[in-house]
Amino acid sequence: MKKISPNPDAEYTVHMSEFPEPVSAEVRKPREECGIYGIFGCPEAANFTYLGLYSLQHRGQESAGIVSTNGERLYRFAGMGQVAQVFAADKLRELIGHAAIGHNRYSTTGASFLRNAQPIRVESHLGSFSLAHNGNLVNSWTLRKRLEKAGSIFQTTVDSEVVVHLMSRSGKQDFLDALAAALRQIKGAYSLLVLTRDALYAVRDPNGFRPLVLGQRPDGAYTVASETCAFDITESKYIRDIEPGELIRIDNLGVTSYYPFDRRSETLCIFENIYFSRPDSIIFNQSVYEVRKNLGRELAREHPIEADVVVAVPDSSTVAALGYAEESGIPYTIGLIRSHYIGRTFIEPEQKIRDFGAKIKYNVIESAVRDKRIVLVDDSIMRGTTSCKLISMFRNVGAKEIHLRISAPPTRFPCYYGIDIPTEKELIAATSSVAEICEYLHVDSLGYLSLANAHQAMQLNGKKQNWCDACFSGHYPLNPEDQREGNQKDLFSEYLVEEIR
Ligand code: SF4
Repeated sequence: MKKISPNPDAEYTVHMSEFPEPVSAEVRKPREECGIYGIFGCPEAANFTYLGLYSLQHRGQESAGIVSTNGERLYRFAGMGQVAQVFAADKLRELIGHAAIGHNRYSTTGASFLRNAQPIRVESHLGSFSLAHNGNLVNSWTLRKRLEKAGSIFQTTVDSEVVVHLMSRSGKQDFLDALAAALRQIKGAYSLLVLTRDALYAVRDPNGFRPLVLGQRPDGAYTVASETCAFDITESKYIRDIEPGELIRIDNLGVTSYYPFDRRSETLCIFENIYFSRPDSIIFNQSVYEVRKNLGRELAREHPIEADVVVAVPDSSTVAALGYAEESGIPYTIGLIRSHYIGRTFIEPEQKIRDFGAKIKYNVIESAVRDKRIVLVDDSIMRGTTSCKLISMFRNVGAKEIHLRISAPPTRFPCYYGIDIPTEKELIAATSSVAEICEYLHVDSLGYLSLANAHQAMQLNGKKQNWCDACFSGHYPLNPEDQREGNQKDLFSEYLVEEIR
């Protein structure tokens, strides 16, 4: 590991210039690819989709889009930015009809521009339809090359577009048959919504990497979403998870289930519970809040320490910190405040300010931590740079001891299934031992939750579930066929038409 020493003039202060990463509010954490929401059987379908997307904003902030239908035509609007920025009231009014699907995007494959915003629109011999995808395909590059050679002309660089070309070339005349034929050829992580003029389809890949839940409103309309937090705001009652490998069709007759794939063992993304999903959601049949609290309890049992207060790195670590405090008996306190008002395009001022990147997002409450021995609970360390800055902020206000506890195992491997985790070269735990990371971060002690205990914490109701833990263990449940040097995001960077926005 290349070690970076702190500034010798200020014992615990690190200069920005030593960390040549761009200043971004989002830089310290892995990012989810997308959030999806769909509704069928409600006269205000687009309005409810807007609300659903709003509550799924944490899953993607680059672009947002909604497609609705009144049974005759499809209506689409999409734009760059967050949901509330993209949809003005007049746009929502134009999205008429009783059914709609929506999508929040954060790109892990394909560039971030308007042409790549979803839902994708399609005109084909199968009719007009629209598709929204959460996840990442691991054979999209191979499929795309094959399709291009056969004459397909792609409109975007998102991996999901291969699905519609495979449908079109399937030789099937029936829509459901064409969709199933296409799905059998793609590999990877996908929770998909497809809207036609008369039905809404929802499908979860056979491994079930990404969550997808089914609900129903009091007026009888069915809803589908990445997480149940999107149901609460749209007054939907959670019915059940859509199962790994299940495809449902929702139409005027109700919900029909299909299982078009060979049976396979599920591998649910363990990181959804640790970090990505909202704690007020139910995913994978469990409360994220309860799982996360359990992770904190396990962490306290595995890495106990004498301290005065437990402090969380907000927001995603707050529940795990509560679990740690509950189990250890050490009082929980709010010692760090996170600003929620940072856009993705925050411009760094000309003048370099020490720890600027961390300070713009976080601030320490001095009176809560001065002269205290603190247990600082976080849910992950990626490159380690922001953690380093946070620690120096605590030192600078006089924290006596800092014991860092991570409610997950060390992140050592990238993800090919829809989460933007840095490459192995960039991940600090891939190149350094825990002792070296502890030294680099200048903490008094560092403890990661072991993989065995992370699995233990996931089993809330005694029901055995199988998890993907590849970013911790390196055991990939699906061979990432298109794996290239560098980031998954650059997979289609050879395509040269740039969109100016
Ligand atoms: S590699 Fe990690 S982030 Fe990716 S699906 Fe598996 S557990 Fe989730």
